Amino acid sequence: MKFPCFILGAALLLIAAAPENPLYTSRREAMVRSQIAARGVTDPATLRAMGSVKRHLFVPEAALADAYDDRPLPIGYGQTISQPYIVAYTTEIIRPRKDHRVLEIGTGSGYQAAILAEIVRKVYTMEIIPELGSEARKRLIKLGYRNVEVRIADGYEGWPEEGPFDAIVVTAAAEYVPPPLLKQLKDGGRMVIPVGSPFLVQTLMLVEKKGGQITTTQLMPVRFVPFRRSP
Ligand code: SAH
Repeated sequence: MKFPCFILGAALLLIAAAPENPLYTSRREAMVRSQIAARGVTDPATLRAMGSVKRHLFVPEAALADAYDDRPLPIGYGQTISQPYIVAYTTEIIRPRKDHRVLEIGTGSGYQAAILAEIVRKVYTMEIIPELGSEARKRLIKLGYRNVEVRIADGYEGWPEEGPFDAIVVTAAAEYVPPPLLKQLKDGGRMVIPVGSPFLVQTLMLVEKKGGQITTTQLMPVRFVPFRRSP
């Protein structure tokens, strides 16, 4: 029965290559223009990634119509996918390069991991909520990202076997910078992390390591979901 198999294969290919709803294409273009470029993000690789990753494939069905809105959205389990501008800003600030290996703490929907994976060589991302981690892993595989690895664990400890990393992006607000993450940052590396009390306004911080010295810079006030610890 070769013939029906061929037809099925061709049909599947057609579905995979089907153009997206033009509404999403235009909303994404508008998002990049009015929320991201207009607010000062200029890194071409970041803008390209934000323009190509289909954010609507990372949100629950109920939020599809809001996928390109200028705000975070709920993704279940009390967590959120970050506001598009914040994803772009944190991506640009780590100065991602093609040959980089990046650690992300807080996989959530997998959206920021996908943005990073469009730019850098390899993304290691950690999620503490098993359901979110495995959904994100499946989603990233389905979308063809072969350079992302998802680990379900407490990101406080980082991923020592794969470190040190060129950059680290933390997407949950911690009371302080976890020392294991500092240790796993390469010399010359950059980490971006929201620091402050959960449920209050936190400060997005840039942490740089140079010649063994750590410097921190306050970037902007932000509100992220809390960094949790495994019991
Ligand atoms: N980057 C995500 C945003 C997720 S919100 C996205 O693009 O969708 C932050 C995520 O961090 C949540 O999913 C939360 O469960 C996770 N998180 C909180 N504390 C964590 C920890 N200690 N280790 C790993 N993940 C953590």
